[in-house]
Amino acid sequence: MKSHAKAVVIGGGVVGCSVLYHLAKAGWTDILLIERSELTSGSSWHAAGGFHTLNGDPNVAKLQAYTVQLYKEIEEISGQSCSLHLTGGVMMADTPERMDFLRLAHAKGRYLGMDTELITPSEAKAMFPLMDETNFVGAMWDPVEGHLDPSGTTHAYAKAARKLGAEIVLRNRVVEMTQEVDGTWNVVTEQGTVKAEHVVNCGGLWAREIGRMVGVELPVLAMEHMYLLTEPMPEVEEFNKSTGREMIGVLDFKGEIYTRQERNGILLGTYEKACKPWSPVNTRWDFGHELLQPDIDRIAPSLEIGFKHFPGIEKAGIKQIINGPFTFALDGNPLVGPVQGLTNFWCACAVMAGFSQGGGVGLALSNWMVHGDPGFDVWGMDVARFGEWATLRYTNAKVRENYSRRFSIRFPNEELPAARPAQTTPLYDTMLANNAVMGDSWGLETPLWFAPKGSEPKDIVSFHRSNDFGPIGEEVRATRERVGVTEIANFAKYEVSGPGAEDFLNRLMTNRMPKTGRIVLTPMLNEFGRLIGDFTIAKAGEERFMIWGSSAAQKYHMRWFEKHLPKDGPRAAEVRIHRFDQTLVGLSIAGPKSRDLLQKLVDVDISTKAFRFMDFREMAVGGAPCMVNRITYTGDLGYEIWMAPAYQRLVYKAIKEAGEEFGLIDFGMRALLSMRLEKNFPTWFRELRPIYGPFEGSMDRFIKLEKNDFIGREAAAREQAAGPKLRRVSFIVDAADADVMGDEPIWAKIGGKDYGTVEKPHGYGAPRFDAGGKEVRGSNAAEGASAVRGIVDGDWRVVGWVTSGGYAHYVEKSMAQGYVPAALAENESAGLFEIEILGHRRPARINVEPPFDPSGEKMRT
Ligand SMILES: Cc1cc2nc3c(=O)[nH]c(=O)nc-3n(C[C@H](O)[C@H](O)[C@H](O)COP(=O)(O)OP(=O)(O)OC[C@H]3O[C@@H](n4cnc5c(N)ncnc54)[C@H](O)[C@@H]3O)c2cc1C
Repeated sequence: MKSHAKAVVIGGGVVGCSVLYHLAKAGWTDILLIERSELTSGSSWHAAGGFHTLNGDPNVAKLQAYTVQLYKEIEEISGQSCSLHLTGGVMMADTPERMDFLRLAHAKGRYLGMDTELITPSEAKAMFPLMDETNFVGAMWDPVEGHLDPSGTTHAYAKAARKLGAEIVLRNRVVEMTQEVDGTWNVVTEQGTVKAEHVVNCGGLWAREIGRMVGVELPVLAMEHMYLLTEPMPEVEEFNKSTGREMIGVLDFKGEIYTRQERNGILLGTYEKACKPWSPVNTRWDFGHELLQPDIDRIAPSLEIGFKHFPGIEKAGIKQIINGPFTFALDGNPLVGPVQGLTNFWCACAVMAGFSQGGGVGLALSNWMVHGDPGFDVWGMDVARFGEWATLRYTNAKVRENYSRRFSIRFPNEELPAARPAQTTPLYDTMLANNAVMGDSWGLETPLWFAPKGSEPKDIVSFHRSNDFGPIGEEVRATRERVGVTEIANFAKYEVSGPGAEDFLNRLMTNRMPKTGRIVLTPMLNEFGRLIGDFTIAKAGEERFMIWGSSAAQKYHMRWFEKHLPKDGPRAAEVRIHRFDQTLVGLSIAGPKSRDLLQKLVDVDISTKAFRFMDFREMAVGGAPCMVNRITYTGDLGYEIWMAPAYQRLVYKAIKEAGEEFGLIDFGMRALLSMRLEKNFPTWFRELRPIYGPFEGSMDRFIKLEKNDFIGREAAAREQAAGPKLRRVSFIVDAADADVMGDEPIWAKIGGKDYGTVEKPHGYGAPRFDAGGKEVRGSNAAEGASAVRGIVDGDWRVVGWVTSGGYAHYVEKSMAQGYVPAALAENESAGLFEIEILGHRRPARINVEPPFDPSGEKMRT
C-alpha cells in the first residue's frame, strides 16, 4: 500500500467504487480505495439490484437518470457485465389521491426529460399479468427502470477505476484518522498509515463510525430490509415465452411493496410499517457477508395487501427470504459533500438506493472535489442540509418514519410528526394556546397558521386547497389592513465582526455593504456565478455586521463562509463569524398600523424620517434590548425585531397588549409566504438555487458589478453581457381548487419556435408493450424527429417550470413563480401560457409588476 495519496476513499461498496471511478475519470489518478474486507462487504452484496429514476426531488431524479445511463459506459471500460435488465416499470395508484400524486410526478418529468406515461390498470396488467387490476385506479409507466447484478456492477466500477489508474487495497480496515496542521490527513489502517490530502467517507453501514473517527455524528441509520424470492412460476415462464419479454417492475403504494421478475420467479420487497433499525448505536466491525434473521410476521400486513393485489404471486412457493441492513438519512436521500467544520473531509454515504443513485453521487462528489463545485443542484443530498438537532435519537425516529412511509404520499401541506417537538422557542406554549398549527422549520417548531377558536388545530392534508385557506385569508387581510405579528425565529442569523469584516463581506456578496445603521439585500455567488445565497445585511457598528438568511442553509452557508475566511497571518484574526442559531429569536410586526404599535413600545422617535425604510437600530422594545430592522417580507410597512430568547415572551406580551387597540392579529408562516407572493418576492431554495445565475433569478438590482472584485463577478458579468437564457417570473394562474406546489411544467403557445430550455430526454428506456407484445406509443407522443414525447402538444410546448406558488389572499389570485426563456419573460399576453396543475393545464399570465403595492409605497411610508 502506498504511503501518500491525493485522496483516500474509505469503503468498497457500490458508492465507494463509483466515487473512485469518477475521481479517476476526472483526472485524479493518485487515489486509493481502502476496503475493510472484500468489495461489496457492506449492504451492496445482498441488494435487490433494482433501479429507477423517479425521486421526489427533481434534481436527485436527474442524477438517478445519469446513474442508469452510466452502466453501459462502465461495462465497456471494465469489460465486466452489470447484467442489466432494462424492463421498465409501473407505479400503481389505488386511490384518486395517489393518482394525483402520479399526475404530479408525470408533469415534473416533462421538463426533466423523463418519458413517463399515465396508463390504465389494464395496460399495466398487460405487462405484469400477476396483478388484479381491479384494485387500482391508474398507473404511471416509467421506461427507465429495471434491475442488475449488484456485485457485478460494483466490480465493474472498481475495474474501470483501476484501468484509469486508481488503486484498491482490500482486507485493510481504517482504524483512526488525524489531521496535521497543514491539513494533511493521516489515515491509519491495519496495514499502516497513508497521508492524504482528501478523505472520502463511503463507509455505508459503518459511515457513522467513520464520522465518529473525526468527531462528527452523521445523521444516518441502518434499517433491516426484507425481500422474498419465489420458486419458479409457470405463469412467468409462459409470459416470457409468449411475449418474448421479461415482466416489468411494479411499485404498489398501498402495500408499500415493490415486485418484479427474478429468473423464472418473482422478487417482492416491502417497506413495512413495523420497521426495525439495525445496530442503532454502534455497528460491529466484524459484521461480514451476513444476512439477518427473516421475520415474516413483521411484513405480514404488507404481504396480505400484496397477495390481494397480486394474487398470481400468492400461489407461488417462497424459496427464500433475504433480510439485510442498509442505511438511510432522515429524508431518505444521501449525505454528500464536504463536512462543515472540517477541511477536505468528504461524505458519500446514506445512499439508500446505491444502484439508482451511486453513479450520480460519484459524479457530483468528484466534480466537487476536483473542480470545487458539484456541477448540479445537489442540495437535496447535501450533507449540510441537517443541523445539530439531528442527533442519534432524532435520526432514529425520523429514519423509522421515513422508512415506513417510503412509498406514502407526502402532501404539500403535510407536516410529519416523528421526533417533534425538537427545538422550541419560549413562545411555543403560547402559540399552542393561541391554537397555532405548528410546522417543523429546520428542526424548530414554527407557527404555520392559527385555527379558529374551538376548532382543532390540524391540517387536513390535501393536494387541493384545504382547511387552512379561510384562516390564512383572515390573517393576510387583517395584517394588510391593520397589523399582524408573527414569529421569525426560524431565520438564519449571523454576526460578522472585526477590522476585516467589511472587506470579507464585500468579497463574498454581490451588493455594496450598507452604511452604519442601514440595511441591504444581497445575493451571494459561487465562482461560477451561480446563486448560493440571499441575505439581509445590516451594518450594526463600524466593524460589525448582522446577517439574516435562510434557516435551512445555515450549515451550507457556514461552510462557505469558513472556506473564505482569511486563514493565515495577522489577517486571520481580522474577521470573526458567529452563528446565533436559536440564541437569537425574533418577531415581525407588519401592516399599516405597525408603526403606531411599535411607537407605543419604544422611547425613541420612529417616525418615517427618523427611522426610514431599510434602517437598522438597536433599541429597547417593551423594555427589552432588541435589534430592529425596518423591513418585512410581507411587503408592508413593518419591522423585524430581534432579541435574546429570554426576552421574547416579554416583547410578545407587550406587542399583544399594545396591539389590541389596532386590531392586531397573529399570523403564521403560510400567511407570510402568501403575502410575499403578491409582492413577487423570491424564496431561497425555491426560486433561488445554485443552478441559476443572478440575472436569470431577476436579481439584477442587487448585483453591483462595478463595486469591487467579488466571488462570481466575472461569470456574472459574462451572464449579463450575453443576456440570461432564463428569467424568473411571476404568474397569475386561472386555478380551480388547487394552486401550484412547485415543479409543475409551464407550457407556452409558441408554435415551432425552439427556445432551447427544456431538458432533452436521456433517450434510454424500455419500450412499453400491450398484452399482445406489441410496442405502444404514448397518447401524447410528439410529432417531429427532435420533439420530445410529452413536452410538445400542437403549438404548445413546455418551456419552463414552476418553483413555488400558492394563493395570494389579499389580491385574491392564484400565483406562481418559475423560470421561462428570457425572450418570453416580459410577455404579459393572455393565452400565451398554461401551467399544469394536477394534470390539468390552466391558463396563466405573466405579471411583471407585483399585484400588491407595485410601487412599494406602502413599505416605504
Ligand atoms: C435487502 C436489501 C435490498 C436492497 N435493494 C436495493 C435495490 O433494489 N436497489 C438499490 O439501489 N439498492 C438496494 N439496496 C440498498 C443498497 O444495497 C445500498 O444502497 C448500497 O449497498 C449502498 O452502498 P454503499 O457503498 O454506500 O455501502 P456498503 O455497501 O455498506 O459499503 C460500505 C463498504 O465500506 C467498507 N468499510 C466500512 N468501514 C470501513 C473502514 N473503517 N475501513 C475500510 N472499509 C470500510 C465496508 O466493508 C463496505 O464494503 C438494498 C439493500 C438491502 C439490504
